[in-house]
Amino acid sequence: MIFFDFHHHYKNSVSGIYNAEPGERPSAGLFSAGIHPNYISDHNEETIKWLYETAQNENCVAIGECGLDGLLATDFQLQKEIFHRQILLANEVNKPVIIHCVRKFYELIPFKKIAKIPMIIHGFNKKEQLAKDMLKHDFYLSFGKSVLHNLSLQKLLEQFPVQKMFLETDGQDFEIELLYRKTAELKKMTPEELQEQIFTNLNNIGISVPE
Ligand SMILES: [Zn+2]
Repeated sequence: MIFFDFHHHYKNSVSGIYNAEPGERPSAGLFSAGIHPNYISDHNEETIKWLYETAQNENCVAIGECGLDGLLATDFQLQKEIFHRQILLANEVNKPVIIHCVRKFYELIPFKKIAKIPMIIHGFNKKEQLAKDMLKHDFYLSFGKSVLHNLSLQKLLEQFPVQKMFLETDGQDFEIELLYRKTAELKKMTPEELQEQIFTNLNNIGISVPE
């Protein structure tokens, strides 16, 4: 069984959504395309042009990862502007947004109000209260490797609605199956039931996965 990896950076992986790098045109499989705050520079028009073209590709199932990063030196106003433009694009092409966020979670909320499409915060490993607040604003959360060893995150997952979650490897080298097994155990489900639920969630955010 191949478990669905919601967000990863491995070009050769057969499962899930590959995150394309600016300028790249993936040839096979589902992918997401966006401008990570790391890629913001003084001349973004070229990257934005790439994104607008790439977003039309039928295998491009989401815009992202993009978002707000409080640890980067990049001007925060500029980060917000580039994020905003990507949300408008996502609205236009009717594709969900995969969000990268560091320390600026509450600043995502005004953007959620602009978005007409679902938003998924990837790599979530923060506190339960923050998860609840994000849930209240209708964000989905995608969880990664931290779930395997972070006890407070495991407790959070026990309470977290399975209808609002995804699972991912991101840039970490480990088997996604381990994460499905651990999460299924926490949710008192079988890994297969969890996978089924994740497919339903994907469907709910407008992503159809080829058989
Ligand atoms: Zn990533």
